[in-house]
Amino acid sequence: MLALLGNPRSSYDVDCQPVTNPALKKLIVLEDVGPFRVTGLKPAVDDLRKIFSSVKASNSELYSALGTAGMLCCRLVRGTKTGAISNHSWGTAIDMKINDELDRRGDDKVLQGLVDLAPFFNQQGWFWGAGFGTEDGMHFEAGDERIRAFHKAGFFGTAVVAPEAALSIGDRGPEVRHLQERLNAFGAEMKVDGIYGPATHAAVIAFQAQKGLIPDGVIGPRTAAALGL
Ligand SMILES: [Zn+2]
Repeated sequence: MLALLGNPRSSYDVDCQPVTNPALKKLIVLEDVGPFRVTGLKPAVDDLRKIFSSVKASNSELYSALGTAGMLCCRLVRGTKTGAISNHSWGTAIDMKINDELDRRGDDKVLQGLVDLAPFFNQQGWFWGAGFGTEDGMHFEAGDERIRAFHKAGFFGTAVVAPEAALSIGDRGPEVRHLQERLNAFGAEMKVDGIYGPATHAAVIAFQAQKGLIPDGVIGPRTAAALGL
């Protein structure tokens, strides 16, 4: 996200703040996506319109229950000490409500409507926050492959070059959980929480040094191969 779209702003807090990056600002739109209007990154908002039109066609009861708690919001990921920037900061994530109800984060239970909704998001290349280290059932975000597809389609301008698929500090999600499991298989003894924070970073550097790889703390193709990823 940082490589393709730049930093949305120079400083972050736990509360919503506006985008200050002028290039990113140009890509932010406020549009009707069917059940409501949202502010977000243009291609992500287009995705939402497709997702909700599929919901409407196959489950009108679910469609009429849909609401949102917001999309664009520049802030840190809540409840973590890693200082990771939330994907809401780029307007590529949305928090959903079902019948005006917000799912409680981190209780490992999710509203039935969100369970019904998740496949529609997955089909469009979006991840569901229910699978995060701390369950975040209301949250859906455009996945890495989807962001790369937006870039390929020319949404972000042609001057930027997409970096190779790599994991590094600040990343989170199922890929990071898998990485942590692999590091543990090599004796790292770390907590598998799906968050690439300082502990994961340190474990990666130690692994790289031990295997004679460049100890840069980034999972590129060589380190991934050495870990069996
Ligand atoms: Zn969210």
